[in-house]
Amino acid sequence: MRAPRSVRVGHVGRLLARSALAACALAATMAAATPARAFCRTTTRSVAPDFQPTRDRCWDQGVPLFWKNACVGYSINRFASKQVSYEDAANGIARAFTRWTGASCPTDGSGNARVSIDVRDMGPVECDRVKYNQEFGNQNVIVFRDDKWDKNDSSNTLALTTVTFNPDTGEIYDADMEVNTHEHRVTLQDPVPSDGYDFASILTHETGHFLGLAHSGDSRATMFASYQPGQTAMRNLTQDDVTGICTVYRPDGSRLVLEGKATSGDSCDPTPRHGFARECAPPAKTGCFSVTGATTSGSAAGVLALLPVIALAVRRRRS
Ligand SMILES: [Zn+2]
Repeated sequence: MRAPRSVRVGHVGRLLARSALAACALAATMAAATPARAFCRTTTRSVAPDFQPTRDRCWDQGVPLFWKNACVGYSINRFASKQVSYEDAANGIARAFTRWTGASCPTDGSGNARVSIDVRDMGPVECDRVKYNQEFGNQNVIVFRDDKWDKNDSSNTLALTTVTFNPDTGEIYDADMEVNTHEHRVTLQDPVPSDGYDFASILTHETGHFLGLAHSGDSRATMFASYQPGQTAMRNLTQDDVTGICTVYRPDGSRLVLEGKATSGDSCDPTPRHGFARECAPPAKTGCFSVTGATTSGSAAGVLALLPVIALAVRRRRS
């Protein structure tokens, strides 16, 4: 097996600097039924720096990502942010996820209409690190970066989601989200101040990345890669977003994977892989963990996107 890899998706600034690491494995199979489709999926292969998704074209290299389990747990770092209290963050993040998990899909004959993915708030955690541990418990953490934003990106990232996945199957193993509250004013106010970034919009976009969606070529979509301060449009899903989530997490419980094939989702167990840990894993012994993971494990880690204040980006990482 190959080692897990991770991908990071971010939201870039005022101009669409880069497209996310988004891939749309569904293009061929979905085109006939939904000609207006623009949504894309994050894949196991990084998006080329000059690639931009359009209404007709997604990044199609690699395997599309998905959560196999019917339920996914997430945790918020207990310190939250000077700008957003833990309680406000928890409520806002829950609402953001619900926009996706509550999406109503076209009936498929199974008697179900809702998407077959759900999330659970596992409660506050101490850990504030973006990492997937192969030999220790995990948490899909959402953390606010008040003190510094050390991503070395020139795109003015508002938030970043890092997804770790199995490179062969595209199954997501872990997703961690960072919000750039160091460089940006994030607000829960309504109406949103002209220089503020709407917390609900950022989180709705980022939770889309968390669930495996990439940037859409539809400029109206929540998953569009560009966001302007003072706006709230990304709070609410468009038909393109709903089509995307319904296509991946079908109401019958299956997940669309490669080339129109489906795989069954597992039952609801939000426990992260290798168990739930509120604390970060202890530091790995020098040279041991990464080498072992790279050479003996066949899985890949994917990064999910963050929503920068102005734009979005996706990142992948080799763990
Ligand atoms: Zn994004």
